[in-house]
Amino acid sequence: MDQCVFCKIADRELPSKIVFENDRVLAFEDLNPQAPTHILIVPKKHIPTLNDATPEDETLLGEVILCAATIAKDRRISTSGYRLVANTMGGAGQSVFHIHFHLLGGRSLAWPPG
Ligand code: AMP
Ligand code: ZN
Repeated sequence: MDQCVFCKIADRELPSKIVFENDRVLAFEDLNPQAPTHILIVPKKHIPTLNDATPEDETLLGEVILCAATIAKDRRISTSGYRLVANTMGGAGQSVFHIHFHLLGGRSLAWPPG
């Protein structure tokens, strides 16, 4: 697999501000934050989009989401509110084709998103 940006971050070939890591999941600060808290949570496994996830990824993706909830608690935004977003494909704004969830919080978030 050609190394994508997030695989390079996981392999320490690109710098990032890592906030959580285990053998399967990585979370790091977004380079271009859109809210006071803007963290990307990714599986270390390279899966380009949610469309490519298979039943064998079910536990992994569940862990990614629970990791986001834990970080939200750590950042004290779990009660004020936060948003977990997985832009999927170009029309939804996906620009990095390695599954990632944006954890956004620390300000009020409009609905619907643009
Ligand atoms: P998306 O547009 O949903 O695919 O989100 C990709 C996100 O990755 C954007 O919010 C970018 O700011 C972020 N991003 C791209 N390159 C990096 C990087 N090297 N380190 C941290 N975040 C990045
Ligand atoms: Zn990747």
